[in-house]
Amino acid sequence: MLAGLAIFHVTMAQSNPPATDTNWKSIYRAVPEKINDLVHAKIDARFDFNQSRMKGKVWLTVQPHLYPVNSLELDAKGMDIHQVALVKGSSNQPLQFKYDGWILNIKLDKSYQQNEKYTVYVEYTAKPNDLKAKGSEAIKDARGLYFINPKGEEKNKPTQIWTQGETEGTSVWVPIIDKPNQKCTDEITMTVPDKFVTLSNGKLASQKKNSDGTRTDTWKMDLPHSPYLFFMGIGDYAVVKDKYKNMDVDYYVDPEFASVAKGIFGLTPQMIGFFEKITGVNYPWNKYAQITGHDYVSGAMENTTATLHSDAAQVDARQLIDGNEWETTIAHELFHQWFGDYATTKSWSNLTVNESFADYSEYLWLEHQYGLDKANEDNIDQMEAYTGSPAQEEKKLVRFYYADKEDMFDLVTYQKGGRILHMLRKYVGDSAFFKGLNLYLNTYKFSNADANQLRLAIEQVSGKDLNWFFNQWYYGNGHPKLDIAYRYDDAAKKVVITVSQLQDGNLFKLPVAIDVYNGTSKQRREVWIENKVDTFVFAYKTKPDLVNVDAEKFTLCEKDDHKTLENFAFQFKNAQNYGDRREALAAAIREQQKPNALALLEAGLHDRYPGLRKMVLDSLDFRNQNIQTTFESSIAELAKTDKDPKVKGKALELLGFYKNPNYVSLFKQNINDSSYSVAGSALFGYTILDPSAGLVSARDIVKQPVRGKLAESVGIILMSLGGEEDFDNIAKTYSVLSGQEKLDAIDAFSAFLVRTQSTDKVKKGVDLIVDYRDHMSARNKDEIIPIINNVILKGIATQKSATKSGSTNAVELQKQIDYINEKIK
Ligand SMILES: [Zn+2]
Repeated sequence: MLAGLAIFHVTMAQSNPPATDTNWKSIYRAVPEKINDLVHAKIDARFDFNQSRMKGKVWLTVQPHLYPVNSLELDAKGMDIHQVALVKGSSNQPLQFKYDGWILNIKLDKSYQQNEKYTVYVEYTAKPNDLKAKGSEAIKDARGLYFINPKGEEKNKPTQIWTQGETEGTSVWVPIIDKPNQKCTDEITMTVPDKFVTLSNGKLASQKKNSDGTRTDTWKMDLPHSPYLFFMGIGDYAVVKDKYKNMDVDYYVDPEFASVAKGIFGLTPQMIGFFEKITGVNYPWNKYAQITGHDYVSGAMENTTATLHSDAAQVDARQLIDGNEWETTIAHELFHQWFGDYATTKSWSNLTVNESFADYSEYLWLEHQYGLDKANEDNIDQMEAYTGSPAQEEKKLVRFYYADKEDMFDLVTYQKGGRILHMLRKYVGDSAFFKGLNLYLNTYKFSNADANQLRLAIEQVSGKDLNWFFNQWYYGNGHPKLDIAYRYDDAAKKVVITVSQLQDGNLFKLPVAIDVYNGTSKQRREVWIENKVDTFVFAYKTKPDLVNVDAEKFTLCEKDDHKTLENFAFQFKNAQNYGDRREALAAAIREQQKPNALALLEAGLHDRYPGLRKMVLDSLDFRNQNIQTTFESSIAELAKTDKDPKVKGKALELLGFYKNPNYVSLFKQNINDSSYSVAGSALFGYTILDPSAGLVSARDIVKQPVRGKLAESVGIILMSLGGEEDFDNIAKTYSVLSGQEKLDAIDAFSAFLVRTQSTDKVKKGVDLIVDYRDHMSARNKDEIIPIINNVILKGIATQKSATKSGSTNAVELQKQIDYINEKIK
C-alpha cells in the first residue's frame, strides 16, 4: 500500500496533539496462531446501492493446521449473519454459531484432523457504513468495502464500488480468517448493473446477462494469496488493453481518461520485464490490471493482479509533459506482486518485508530507467523525509509493540526501510543482493516470511554474517548522527579525520568509503565507523584538496561535515556523485550571503541534472538584493532555454520579481506553453510584474479546462486579485487541484473567503475545503486535518467575527460564522 504521495510542507503550527494512551507498549503483537488454514473461498456478492450494503454468500473450504479442531473462528466485522451451515455434498447442515459483531465462532459437527478439509457456508449482509469500532464510534477509515456516490447524487463523480483489504478490511465484506499469514485460492462472483464493468483477482471466468438488467461476472484466482489482497472493483470504466509478452495488462480508468491511460500506465509492461530480470522470478500471476478509485482512502494498493490507484493518478496529457508523478507508485505496487503478494509478511510487525521492498523498487526503477542522478535524488529525498521526522527515531523497523497495526505504515517501514535495503545491497554487492532476493522469493512463495528469513537468504548467498546489520537496522531503532572533522598537519604531512557518533542510544557499525583527492586523482579507503569516536589518519605528500567521508552518500545518517566552502566547491566539481553535488550546493545555499558561495551556486544553476538546477532556484534568497542582481542573467537564460519544464517554470516565476518590462514578451509567449508548469509559472511571473494584466490573462485562461500548476496559478491569482464575480471559476479550479496543490492554494482561498460577502458563496467555498479535508489520504490526516479545522476554518470565522460589529452585513456574517463552526469537527 502507498499513502498519498505528497509530503506536505505546511509550516503552520499544529494544535491538539493526539491523546497519549500508552497501554499498547505492553501489548505484544504475536504472529497470528494458525489453527485452521484457509484453502479456498467462493464468494457470491450482490449489491444494494441504496443502502450501501452487500448481500453475500461464502463457501469457505478450510482444514486444521495441525491439531484436531471442532470449531472455526472467522473474522466478520459488523455483519448480519443469516445462516451458517456445513456443506455436505449437495445439502447444507446447519451449524451452531456465536457472533459478537466482530468474530463469528462456529461449532463444527465433529472433530476434524489435519488434512481433513471441510466447507462452511455463510449467508450474510455486509454493512460497511454502519460499522462500529470496538467502542461506539463509526469507522471511517477502514470500512473494507466502499460505495462511492452509490445513488448518483453527487454531480461530477462516478458511481463506483471498490474494496480496500489491507490491513484487515476484507472481513468487513466476507467472513474469513483475515490475517496475512493465511493464503487461499478464491472465486468471486459479482452481480452488478449491466452498464458497469467489474474487476477482481485472477481471470474473468464467466459473464452472464440476467433478465433484470444485471450481469453476473465470476473471477477466479487459482493461486493462493492472502485475504487482505482480495479485491472487487465495479463502475463505469474504460478498459484500456496492453500486453506483457502474452499476458493481459489492463488499465481501468474513467472514460474521459481513456486516451491518456497509456501515457499514465504505459510503462507497466517494461517494469514487469525489469522486475522479472532483477528478481530472477517471472511475474507470478496470470494478468495484471490497474484500476482507479474516486475518494480512495490511500495512495494505491497492491491487490493481487488488480492494483487500485487513487484517482489522483488520472492526469491529462499536458500534466504528463511535466513528468508522470505517479510512475514510482506504479512501480511500487507492481513490485508488491512479488514482495507482498507472492511472498507475504507473517504479521504486520514484519511489514518491512512487503513495504520496504516496494519502497526500494522505486529507486531500482528510477536507476534503471533514468540513471543514478534521479535514483539518488529519490534516495536522499526519502532519507531526509525520515530523518526530518524525529518521532520516527524511537521506532524499530520490525516492531512487536504498536498502538494500531495501521501505525506500521510509516516513514520507518517505507522510507527508512528502503534506504536500509540500499545499504544492504551496497554492502553485499549487487550479485549477492539480487540472488538473495531470488532465494527468498523462491523459498517463501505462496507463503509467509519475516525479516529473519530475509537475513538467512542473503547470508546463504553472500556467505557473510549479517546479524550485526539486521540487529542495528531491523531490530534496533534510530540512526547515526555523525560529526566529521578534519585536521590537516602540513608539518607531519598527514590528515586526521575524526568521526564522532553523537546520537543517544546505541552506536552504529558503518562500512564507509573515504576518498582523498589531490587534483583529479582520487584514492579510496574503505573503513569501518563503529566507536563513539573513530580517528583515521592518512599521510600525504601535498595537502589534499578534499577528504570525502561517506564517499557514496548512501549511509542512512544525519551528519555535520566540517568541510569548508572551498572543499565543497571542489567536491561539486570533482566528486560528481549526485549526493556530492547536492551536499555541496546545500552548503552554498546555507551560506549564500557569503561572496564565495556565489560561484558554486552559479555552477549549480548549470548542473547537468534538472533537479539540482531547480534546487538552487528554489533556495535563492530573493530578499537579498545582491543575490537577485548576481543571478538575473542566469535565471533569464534558464527561463528562455531550459529543456526541463519545472526548471524553466521556476525561472519564469522568479523572473517576475525583477519587475522588468523587458520580460513581458517572454512571459506572454510562455503562458501558452503546452507544459502546465511553464504556463502556470509564466502567468505567475507575469502577474507579479503586472498584476492587472495577469488577472486579465487568468480570467481568459480559465475559460478552458486547465489542471496542474496552471490551474493552481489561475486559482491563486483569481483568489488574490479577483472579486466575487470570479467565485465560480475559483471553485471550478480549486476542485481540479491535487491534494498538494489544494494545500498550496488554501491560504489564498481562505483570504478570499474572508473578503467574500455573499453567504451562499462563502458556504460553497467552505464546502470545498471541507470536501478536501474529508477525502484526504489516511497518511496525511493526522497532520493536516487539525490545521484545516483549527487554523484555516477557525481563522476565517474569527476574521469574520472581528468585522461583524457595526457592519451592515452583520446578520449575514453571523450566518457564515455559524455555518463554518458547524463544519469544524
Ligand atoms: Zn506498498
